[in-house]
Amino acid sequence: MKIKVLGASGSEVPGHSCPALLIDGKILLDAGTIAVALNIREERSLRHILLTHAHFDHIKGIPFLLDNLVTRNTGNTVTVLSGRDVLDDLRKNIFNGRIWPDFTRLPDPAHPALQYRAIRPERPVKVDEYSVVMERVHHTVPAYGYIVEDGARKAVGYTGDTGPTDRFWKSMAARDVKCLIVETSFPDRLETLALASGHLTPSLLEKEIAKMRPPPPKIYVMHLKPQYLSEIEAEVEALGRGNIEFLKEGEVIGL
Ligand SMILES: [Zn+2]
Ligand SMILES: [Zn+2]
Repeated sequence: MKIKVLGASGSEVPGHSCPALLIDGKILLDAGTIAVALNIREERSLRHILLTHAHFDHIKGIPFLLDNLVTRNTGNTVTVLSGRDVLDDLRKNIFNGRIWPDFTRLPDPAHPALQYRAIRPERPVKVDEYSVVMERVHHTVPAYGYIVEDGARKAVGYTGDTGPTDRFWKSMAARDVKCLIVETSFPDRLETLALASGHLTPSLLEKEIAKMRPPPPKIYVMHLKPQYLSEIEAEVEALGRGNIEFLKEGEVIGL
């Protein structure tokens, strides 16, 4: 499995892009950054998007991806998977024919550029040759993390946005997760804000790692708010864990 990091930031400023991780060129974990990072050939290879939640920083690449596919007449259908609550938010609030077109009917209803596939937590589903399990995490809106396992049974875990949580770690323990990609949005001094907004700080991350049995061999931290970048980095370094790295935009991780 190869994971290309299109975006790994907790907001958008020059040099930092919103979350999107491309698995083997085919499946996108979150969709904060697409069209500014991929060419049309790469966009055409993209078949599935696993959405953690409907917050704007995680979905904002989708409207332009669909626009590109339709205007270039590619004939592609992209399937967006998530919980029904997340998909309902997209349908009602984004692709509603007002904010953006309803691409489930375009370019024509028989061959649309967009289709939704609601999945349920805890039940593994097949997506291409991958086994995907979605688990609820703790955020201010309905939100899910994903564990994606390839044919060689190598798996990556991705929390999306979450405050302290439990079920995801249990699900991870039942699988051979080689690498965990987890958010850490705020520095320790903003713990109250982090908890209120359903996010982690370095100290809260340390407590989450203590719940993992065992912790995965590799942990990548992402979704840092750019304003607090150096502060969060210093606090994560101070945890003294040799297996934690910061996810870098543009890098490719191999499992
Ligand atoms: Zn969020
Ligand atoms: Zn976010």
